[in-house]
Amino acid sequence: MIFFAGWSSVLESSGEKSLKTKRKILIFDTTLRDGEQSPGASLTIREKLRIARQLVRLGVDFLEAGFPASSEGDFQAVKAVAREVKGAGVAGLARCLPKDIDSAFRALEKASRPRIHLFLATSKIHREFKLGKAKEEIVRLAVESVKLARRYVDDVEFSPEDAARTELSFLAEVVREVIAAGAGTVNIPDTVGYSTPEEFSEIIHYLHKNVPNLGRAVISVHCHNDLGLAVANSLGAVKAGAGQVECTINGLGERAGNASLEEIVMALKVRKDYWGVATGIDTRQIYKTSRLVSHLTGIAVQRNKAIVGENAFAHEAGIHQDGVLKERTTYEIMSPRDVGVPRSRLVLGKHSGRHAFREKLKGMGYSLSDAELEDAFEKFKRLADKKKQVFDEDIEVLVDEQIQAVPEIFTLVYLNVTTGTTTIPTATVKLKKGEKIMQDASCGDGPVDAACRAIDRITGIKGELRSYELRAVTAGKDALGEVTAQVRVAGRVVTGRASSTDIIEASVKAYLNGINRLAGRLSRARSGGEGGAKA
Ligand SMILES: [Zn+2]
Repeated sequence: MIFFAGWSSVLESSGEKSLKTKRKILIFDTTLRDGEQSPGASLTIREKLRIARQLVRLGVDFLEAGFPASSEGDFQAVKAVAREVKGAGVAGLARCLPKDIDSAFRALEKASRPRIHLFLATSKIHREFKLGKAKEEIVRLAVESVKLARRYVDDVEFSPEDAARTELSFLAEVVREVIAAGAGTVNIPDTVGYSTPEEFSEIIHYLHKNVPNLGRAVISVHCHNDLGLAVANSLGAVKAGAGQVECTINGLGERAGNASLEEIVMALKVRKDYWGVATGIDTRQIYKTSRLVSHLTGIAVQRNKAIVGENAFAHEAGIHQDGVLKERTTYEIMSPRDVGVPRSRLVLGKHSGRHAFREKLKGMGYSLSDAELEDAFEKFKRLADKKKQVFDEDIEVLVDEQIQAVPEIFTLVYLNVTTGTTTIPTATVKLKKGEKIMQDASCGDGPVDAACRAIDRITGIKGELRSYELRAVTAGKDALGEVTAQVRVAGRVVTGRASSTDIIEASVKAYLNGINRLAGRLSRARSGGEGGAKA
């Protein structure tokens, strides 16, 4: 019975003499659904698959792959994840509408452990202004939808949206009714990030006291971070008896984001003495997952972010460094190794062959087709010519870029820029579209601006560079520069990314990558239709 997995106990990991049993907290990852709703974070099916496979390696219990009824693209993505990713339950979000439930089922059909995740707003403000429905109608709709979903799958989760602002007695009534109708998990979301740790754990306590059939379901929580309290609120709920936490890698999500998976998992692990619970997460996969999500979404992790930020394990103050050298635990509550932070290792050089390259990729967890491998190898050779030492991180960027590759409608074939303190920055660009080569030139505020303007003139698409980030992938003057650019075109924001040892070239390619993504999406929308998912 999938429903009661949250109540099963897990054995403490080996190494401890007495086999203590602990309550297991299920980790429900929603990076691919709620996380992907971050502006500019949209992922292609291939990217979603890559993240989903890594989430399975990480050990999540469930992964929410998308909102199938929201767009054809989301439907196909959920379908692909359900078909190809084994080892975790796969959830699809649905409103309480027969067409949504049907679409979620069709997308999840091939999953080994499908879960339909229904949601319906219950707070007064949402009832009155968004839905225009009375309480009785909400209960009836919720119950009917759970029953309908149960005809398709055994595992149904129900979320009373904006639960944290719902009257407690009404919330208890909804929870009781949906459990009676067959929901095995009831998720309590703080949709707008409004609650506080004490208040939120009180809600869980209240439900325990006032919902007689609560023992038949797993209580889940889903917190947003508008006041920076998402993780604290989730942990408060765990203490109060919640058995599942919904979260995202890097805390990705709309507005200020969702509760961050890595912070919740590491808090529960480092302070297991306090919480007395366990998760099934292999924490050594955390860093890798964080980097992958950041790469593919184009959303950087802040330096001082807990657990996965660049500075999370850096000790700068002399007195701290001295302490850590004498005894690590003086200032370190966990080891970088616990979350899988790698040391930069010299891997390959200019003379490394195909075989060594293929073995290296295998060791890093990539599986590429022969054609993809050949392409990646060519790129590696070109990089090794420019850069003396090629590190794991360089290879990661190189291969992820390829996985991320969007169909190149426009390809950069020539770039020449002139710039300096006394010259007007000018760029000449040649792009290839199909067999046609087009060229133009422009001046601008700087070489990147000039090149972007030249691209606009050629493509006829007017883009605006909204934000721009340059990161050196490793140390050293010859380091690979990775550029992430958010490009706004006709009211839409897309993220472009590219890397090169030449930062101007990387910048221009990142801009063009954004334009190509948009051009691709526009042609997909023409054939399939696209809509926004909000939950
Ligand atoms: Zn949410």
